[in-house]
Amino acid sequence: MPKDSRVQEEVREVQEVVPDIKLPPPSPTPVSFDCSYMDWQQLRTAVQSCTRCDISKVRTQTVFGTGNQQAPWMVIGEAPGAEEDRQGEPFVGKAGQLLNNMLLAIGMPRETVYIANVLKCRPPNNRDPKPDEATHCRGYLERQIELVNPALILVVGRIAAQNLLQTTEPLARLRGKQHRAPVSGTPVVVTYHPAYLLRQPADKRKAWQDLLFAREVSSQYVPTSH
Ligand code: URA
Repeated sequence: MPKDSRVQEEVREVQEVVPDIKLPPPSPTPVSFDCSYMDWQQLRTAVQSCTRCDISKVRTQTVFGTGNQQAPWMVIGEAPGAEEDRQGEPFVGKAGQLLNNMLLAIGMPRETVYIANVLKCRPPNNRDPKPDEATHCRGYLERQIELVNPALILVVGRIAAQNLLQTTEPLARLRGKQHRAPVSGTPVVVTYHPAYLLRQPADKRKAWQDLLFAREVSSQYVPTSH
């Protein structure tokens, strides 16, 4: 056999034993990342420049959160809507006006609480957050909770509640009970989303019961000092 052919045969034999060396796939964006050392400014900057999921490509701007950074109550919603995406502030549309009135009625005017969402960017057409989007945003919300260190978290709506509490329980089973936020252990009370209450005003009565319950829970809890 000529030398060239022998070499080629040896190469083929080696290739059969050693499969093509493949480069490892590009490492995906890590799902969990550490925000726990960040102060408010670092956290805000991290959110503003976040490109961890695809909805970052279609946002007008991020919606970080607003209000009293040492608030006794923190309100957590689902995600920014069209108006929030335009203004860069959570709950500034019609649902936000109702939320403001609910808070005022229970003696917690908007400027006294801290308001944030599970997602910091608006999902296209206001669709529900996808699990990976919520996962990528989770560290930001957890750090916001840690920094505010409220006596109570009021979660509005099923989607926000299920995401924060990491459960698939329906809203009806989540209302009327005291829960604990993962990581911080902050007491959590769940109520209806104000956008739902605008469509179903008859349920405002039940939402009022939730607010009374929230006030009772928060009055019993002394958070650790800042
Ligand atoms: N709905 C929400 O859940 N959050 C907002 O900021 C606005 C509407």
